[in-house]
Amino acid sequence: MDKPRRPIRRIRNAESVRDTIDDPTSDEFAPLRNSARSLTNESAAAMRAGAQVRDLPVLPVRNTVLLPNMVVPLFIDREPALRAVEEAMNADRSILIVSQRAEDITDPLPQDVYDVGVECVVNRVLRMPDGAGSVLAQAVRRFRIETWLQEAPFGRVRGVAFTEPELRSEQIEALARTALRLFERCVKLSSRLGEDAYIQALNVERPGALADYIVAQLEPPMQTRQEILETFDPAARLRKACYLLQRELNVLELEQSIQEDVQREVDRGQREYYLREQMKVIQKELGEHDPAMRESGELRERIESAGMPAETQARALKELERLEAMPSIAPEYSVLRGYLDWLIALPWNKRSDDRVDLRHVAETLDANHYGLTKVKDRILEFMAVRKLAPEGRTPILCFSGPPGVGKTSLGRSIAEALGRKFVRVSLGGVRDEAEIRGHRRTYVGALPGRIIQTMKQAGTINPVFVLDEIDKLAADYRGDPAAALLEVLDPEQNNTFSDHYLEVPYDLSQVMFVLTANVLHTIPAPLRDRMEVIELSGYTEEEKTHIARQFLIPRQMRDTGLNTNRIEFDDAAINRIIREYTFEAGVRNLEREIGAVMRQVARRVVEGRRHKANVSAARVPVYLGQQKHFPTEPQERDEVGVATGLAWTAAGGDLTTVEVLAVSGRGNILLTGQLGDVMKESAQAALTFTRARATALGLPEAFHEKTDIHVHMPAASIPKDGPSAGVTMAIAMISALTGREIRSDVAMTGEITLRGRVLPVGGVKEKTLAAHRAGVRTIILPRRNLKDLDDVPEEIRNTLAFYPVDTMDEVIELALRNATGRTASGGAPHTTGGASVRQPQPSRPLGEPLAASGRLARPRSTGRRDGGEVSGVHSVNGVVVAG
Ligand code: ADP
Repeated sequence: MDKPRRPIRRIRNAESVRDTIDDPTSDEFAPLRNSARSLTNESAAAMRAGAQVRDLPVLPVRNTVLLPNMVVPLFIDREPALRAVEEAMNADRSILIVSQRAEDITDPLPQDVYDVGVECVVNRVLRMPDGAGSVLAQAVRRFRIETWLQEAPFGRVRGVAFTEPELRSEQIEALARTALRLFERCVKLSSRLGEDAYIQALNVERPGALADYIVAQLEPPMQTRQEILETFDPAARLRKACYLLQRELNVLELEQSIQEDVQREVDRGQREYYLREQMKVIQKELGEHDPAMRESGELRERIESAGMPAETQARALKELERLEAMPSIAPEYSVLRGYLDWLIALPWNKRSDDRVDLRHVAETLDANHYGLTKVKDRILEFMAVRKLAPEGRTPILCFSGPPGVGKTSLGRSIAEALGRKFVRVSLGGVRDEAEIRGHRRTYVGALPGRIIQTMKQAGTINPVFVLDEIDKLAADYRGDPAAALLEVLDPEQNNTFSDHYLEVPYDLSQVMFVLTANVLHTIPAPLRDRMEVIELSGYTEEEKTHIARQFLIPRQMRDTGLNTNRIEFDDAAINRIIREYTFEAGVRNLEREIGAVMRQVARRVVEGRRHKANVSAARVPVYLGQQKHFPTEPQERDEVGVATGLAWTAAGGDLTTVEVLAVSGRGNILLTGQLGDVMKESAQAALTFTRARATALGLPEAFHEKTDIHVHMPAASIPKDGPSAGVTMAIAMISALTGREIRSDVAMTGEITLRGRVLPVGGVKEKTLAAHRAGVRTIILPRRNLKDLDDVPEEIRNTLAFYPVDTMDEVIELALRNATGRTASGGAPHTTGGASVRQPQPSRPLGEPLAASGRLARPRSTGRRDGGEVSGVHSVNGVVVAG
């Protein structure tokens, strides 16, 4: 294969170009296609003069077009080509080198090669061992093929060889100069063409040869070179060369401007980098004078001294670097700055000295809270365990009870006793997980969650942290806050609590969490599992009076600036406020009312109207206005169909009344007074039980078919629910149906089953206190609730008689008066109902309460008969319980 090597260009017959043409630039560079193909007269004559008809062997080449005066090494491997070279060597070494029209032809025919080629002299022939050869061909002059003399074994043609004429017209001169000037500019711009290329061009003598030389240097595509080869007229060839030069120049200039642009960009980047580096050095020098530098320096110091764990500190420092690289007006700047401030402000290792001195704890609790002996004992036990096993898995304390009984303030006392900081968060109504865990920083105005916010407020890593109203947590589509809380409270995972805003783990393991709740059943089970519940059920009137005397009045005095020389409260006045102006298990409203009295006294003192106020019971309405609360009172006399129950409310216990009227009808039951589902079902059960006992109760078998029963619970605007009114409803029903009156001095509570069993209920302590407050002295309660009486203060227990029961039959025995004047039919229902029908009958005596002291133990049978008809009365440490 005859591949061209890189051409070696050599200029022959160089002539100096005359420089006498006036204005060479006036020449137009006509496009290639327009350039004249025909020869001018002058050049035609000259060409003819130099033309010579010759017979030459043909060497077709691909990939290249030789132009006269080029010296090119050629590699030859085709047999015909080798034969042609041989032939030339045998003669005068002249050969015609002509280009193939298409590259991929291996055995070109006459029509496959151009008609115009170059007559060359073969200078050196090298034969390779494999038979191929290499020659150095020196192009001499243009040659036009006229006819093919033979095609095989190698091509031989007859044609005309043209010697380049020497022309000196002004036009040619101008073209030559133009070409040279353009070439000079190309050489200057081009990285490929060296300065010597221009020097050589200057030394080419004949203008046509100059064009050939320049085109060879520009290395245009094959087609263009062939076209130049076929342009015999030197003027036309120069023109084409100029056109090619101009094009090349345009490309070069464009290339250069692109390169300059790129360079400029690079330069600017480098320059900025350099300037910034310089600025850093300058800033470092000026350090304390530059506000931005000083600020970031300060931040760095604060981060490093905040005591963060290593990873958190590394993170903070990285964020600080980002901050430093940011202009302070960037919106992200303040977000990042806020974030760093949070990280710095949080306590990471600062702690209060924790001293668990049980005696000190006991003293503090006593100093801040009256009573609550059991609660305080539990707290002390809890503390003792923590002291002995600080790393042990201690459950979390949860105080449960109605509002105002001192749950939160106990937490505060614990903190005070331990010497820890106290913080609290109310969870009431929290339904969004983000409130616990915070929002991610990508949110506008994002903040950490309440836990982290409160830790910042605490300022130490081991505060007493009260989570109030844990029972009021709610969950909705925004996630489950309880799940997040679990992570907060679980000692297994709360050393790496993750807040969405903070993004770094935070250690909550040293925090002492205390929870408070009003009720326990709404607390999510997984949370409840981790809690040690301590119940605070409410205070008796006596306790409230003590609390008022010892704590509330002194505190309110301090707050209003009064002292004992200015105001004095009677016990009777305090009692009246408790009974008539507050209705609560705790003492919050009591404190508020006392405060209201004080403020009025303070005003009078300041106005000079009074020097000292003695607040007596009679004067209470003067300060507090009309009585605000009217407690439910027991029935004044025994009645048919009216029973007194005991209810539990969020404010403590209360009395409730159940009214039942039996009227002629068709066996319907009507329930009114906003009864909940559970309560309605209790009423149904009570009715079915009554029907089952009809014969024993002396009722006709099918009494219900002719009777409608209406059960109503007054205070109809207040929703009521729960199973504990079952016993009360049943007794009222039986009373209404049998006409036997219900003892007005008895209050009862208990759930009833269909077979008449009485099941235990909740809130016994509160119910007992309420009964006591209302002046009821006899209480019927489920036997299995007896244990709850341990919680009732002794002085209250001593004034009450408790009748524990297992069955409804016992309740009937205890609460209903004997029926007299019963009809012969054996107890027909009182279809007219109501109290007016029967006169009250003397009741069987109930057990008399005994005045004694001591703790209430499990009741045991004394076998004592009391009042003849009561089957067994248990006298337990001063309380008579009958059953
Ligand atoms: P809770 O958290 O149970 O709703 P708080 O702890 O807020 O109730 O108590 C309400 C107020 O009653 C507080 O001022 C508290 O000091 C006072 N208080 C409650 N119980 C007692 C008590 N046993 N002795 C003294 N003050 C009490």
